[in-house]
Amino acid sequence: MNPFSRQDGELLAENVRLNDIADNVGTPVYVYSKGYFESRYRALEAALAPLDARICYAVKANSNLSVLRCFQVLGAGFDIVSGGELQRVLAAGGRPETVVFSGVGKSEAEMDFALKLGIGCFNVESDQELDRLSRRAALLGRVAPVSVRVNPNVDARTHPYISTGLKTSKFGVPAAEAEAMYQRASADPALEVTGIDCHIGSQIASAEPLLEALDSLLELASRLKSQGIGLRHLDLGGGLGVRYNDEPDFDLDTYGEALKHKLRGSGLQLVLEPGRYLVANGGVLLTRVEYLKPAAEDGRSFAIVDAGMNDLIRPALYQAWHGIEPVNPAAEDARRDHWDIVGPVCESGDFLAHDRDLALAPGDLLAVGSAGAYGMVQSSNYNSRPRPAEVMVENGRFRLIRRRENSRELLALEKDLDG
Ligand SMILES: *Cc1c(COP(=O)(O)O)cnc(C)c1O
Repeated sequence: MNPFSRQDGELLAENVRLNDIADNVGTPVYVYSKGYFESRYRALEAALAPLDARICYAVKANSNLSVLRCFQVLGAGFDIVSGGELQRVLAAGGRPETVVFSGVGKSEAEMDFALKLGIGCFNVESDQELDRLSRRAALLGRVAPVSVRVNPNVDARTHPYISTGLKTSKFGVPAAEAEAMYQRASADPALEVTGIDCHIGSQIASAEPLLEALDSLLELASRLKSQGIGLRHLDLGGGLGVRYNDEPDFDLDTYGEALKHKLRGSGLQLVLEPGRYLVANGGVLLTRVEYLKPAAEDGRSFAIVDAGMNDLIRPALYQAWHGIEPVNPAAEDARRDHWDIVGPVCESGDFLAHDRDLALAPGDLLAVGSAGAYGMVQSSNYNSRPRPAEVMVENGRFRLIRRRENSRELLALEKDLDG
């Protein structure tokens, strides 16, 4: 399902006019299709059936409360990486027992918060973290459910900044070390061993590296079983890739079939933690052209728009490619060129796209594609710019799900100017 289509040359989201949204809410604004999120979730669910599987949506991909609610209603659990994300899950109506807590740096306060709520599982990433978790649980009179995040040393063959499964990565522990951690955990009354997990990276194009990781987790699980340490679930993380430009969309059927084959008879519940796959192509960032600066001699041509790297940092941070389309047919006076689409932020790294063949005029509304994942969540106030608004489209209508910040809010936390 592609929720973005054209009618009489004008780009719509689920039949809602993007022009209307921009006129009502202003720009820059993120626009999401709820129907798309639902269809992706259901497709993943269908590909895994009839496995005993739980989909824990990775909150960090898009943590707007209305997005979390959408997945909560569909029956998802949640993969979180901070106490703040846990607050969001609760605020969206998510149940703590459906939550898995990942991340290399869980603080004592975050552990205590999650222990008191009774979350589903702590995905532990180091020896010292296991010790801390045991101490906090004992102190609170709780038993912490634990899984060890194994680093299976497989190459996810993706961008180095989003590759997490090689032994050079800060994430997880090598299998041999994990085994020793399991032995300690199973003897510790404050800990309950429940599963095993990994997450080898993001934007992974094919099932193979994930299945390689699965093999190594299954091998460790069976070694543990022979030592009397039984596991209930196996969590393969997220990482399923999506199409930004001409990449193939991740082949769910191949992945689903292989998972069923490999997990048959294991008695393990499968947990997945997809983020990007569920939301990336369900969102666009709308931005307006402020100025055009056509090339002088052999220079570059710049279209300066009202969204910058503070609103969408992926191009600057990962050299990520996002499609850019004018929402409306080109005006008569539009200027055709190879444009660098750049923001107002005072950094040369502030760009959304390079060298796009487009006919543009000032005031044109542009849709930056594939902006549903790792967009708004990575926005900042750099250059004292208020963060953009967010809108959800559903059933032929749109609603504001997060209003734009204002400049008063930007100053609100600062005080005591003269000491
Ligand atoms: C980021 C992250 C995910 C989600 O990754 P996607 O590529 O968006 O699916 C899942 N699990 C963990 C531990 C993560 O850090």
